[in-house]
Amino acid sequence: VSVPVIPSDTPPPTLGPTDTVGFGGFGEGAPLDLSGLSPAGEQAVLTRLLDRSFSAWAETAAMVGYCARPVRLTGTSDTYERDPKLDAIGRLMGSFDSADTPLGVLYRPCGNRRADVCPACSRVYARDTFEMIRAGLVGGKTIPERVAENPLLFVTLTAPSFGHVHAAHDDGSRCLPRSRAGRCGHGRLMSCMRRHDTNDQLIGAPLCDQCYDWASAVIWQYTAPELWRRTTITLRRGIAARLGVTETKLGTVASVQYAKVAEYQARGMVHFHALIRLDGPKDQGPGAPAPLDGHDLARLVKQAVTGTVFAADPVDEADLARVIGWGRQLDIKIVRNEKAAEDPGQNRSALTPEQVAGYLAKYSTKDANSLRDPTQPAPHLRRLAEVCRDLAARGREHAQWDDNPTDAPYALLDKWAHMLGFRGHFSTKSRQYSVTLGKLRRARHRYRVLVEQTKCTGTPLDLADLEARLLADDETETTRVIGSWDYQGTGWPRPGDTTLALAAAARAREYDQWKAHQRAANAA
Ligand SMILES: [Zn+2]
Ligand SMILES: [Zn+2]
Ligand SMILES: [Zn+2]
Repeated sequence: VSVPVIPSDTPPPTLGPTDTVGFGGFGEGAPLDLSGLSPAGEQAVLTRLLDRSFSAWAETAAMVGYCARPVRLTGTSDTYERDPKLDAIGRLMGSFDSADTPLGVLYRPCGNRRADVCPACSRVYARDTFEMIRAGLVGGKTIPERVAENPLLFVTLTAPSFGHVHAAHDDGSRCLPRSRAGRCGHGRLMSCMRRHDTNDQLIGAPLCDQCYDWASAVIWQYTAPELWRRTTITLRRGIAARLGVTETKLGTVASVQYAKVAEYQARGMVHFHALIRLDGPKDQGPGAPAPLDGHDLARLVKQAVTGTVFAADPVDEADLARVIGWGRQLDIKIVRNEKAAEDPGQNRSALTPEQVAGYLAKYSTKDANSLRDPTQPAPHLRRLAEVCRDLAARGREHAQWDDNPTDAPYALLDKWAHMLGFRGHFSTKSRQYSVTLGKLRRARHRYRVLVEQTKCTGTPLDLADLEARLLADDETETTRVIGSWDYQGTGWPRPGDTTLALAAAARAREYDQWKAHQRAANAA
């Protein structure tokens, strides 16, 4: 496999060796702290020490931010000057050869979003999501600060109920105490007096497996992205009506911007947390003054959420069409009503932009695997995955689709069985909500290149407009990298290296937390 240019879209490391100074770690100048390492980790260090490759490994691991399964590449790249106006390539500025790296192979972070796949890269992703969400709340990262003056809601949308399920409650109360509960047709009591431990596999499981509407649950999950799409259309329509313009003219007076993340509940259904901001005319960009306040917006969102329903196709002739809509549990918080100056405080929720951004960033790194121990998933989650496969097979068998079985409405549902039927993105945003994650990643990459150049040339790093330059569009780039890369594989070459990288990533995380506490203590 040949990769044309250096893959800059994966997050480069942010935890450099200097980050661990003053705290036991694996970095340059930090003492090698082997306490708390598993025997496998200790063995890995020992092997690397014996064949004298430990420092080369440690340097590489720090460079990929302790990624658990980095991508290995060999090849070369050349960096040329570029004239952005002419899009012309000029002088050769420097060359890079993977053979010159400490281990002789170029390692790149995997960039995976999921904490269960790579804790280190997932933290980078969460941090980028945090910055992206935050910029949409208060500005920064090329987003104007005036976005902070527009109405903003924090909305949680849930799936409907598909039958009673066991639950653990924050206040420690009983699961589903109902003294007069009868029994279902299968003889099961429709009440549960237990106080479930938070690790109990029963949490989220139906009280009666036979009563629970598994098929509808899976079909709801499969159609949830469409439900969200239709809800945003209904909302735009509602806002247009409220402002007395036609739908097609809405953009000339207002625009709805959002960022949302999906989160799995214990029962295996996703719910969505969305930040919804109202801006003024679209062509004036993010944060143009909004024509409505937060209360108006909240009313219109509520109308859109309760009013959006559509019929999902039946699986086959024996099946019924289902009406897809949101669950009754709907939470709309007004984070900001309108301009701070005109808002004496009573319209503000207790949520700060940092809390909201942190909340969404945390969920952005989780998925169906975060719900369960993947080696031993709870039976109800396994059942949901099985239902995905069954419905897909049933749909394909349906006579109507004989010519092209993949045209059947749920033919591809089994592809999403591991996601329990959810095929949407875990975090999405509208175009003008904020800066893109891609831009943040590119900025980090550019910063690294700048630091390298500074080291090579000895000229100091020019801090003037640094952030703006790092976040600038591709067209303004003053260098171009042309390279040729061969993919060697994914992951560390020795199994012990992975253990070590995971331990170092955990240590780096502890260090960050320690640093944050230190900062908080100093501030207090
Ligand atoms: Zn990684
Ligand atoms: Zn229970
Ligand atoms: Zn039953």
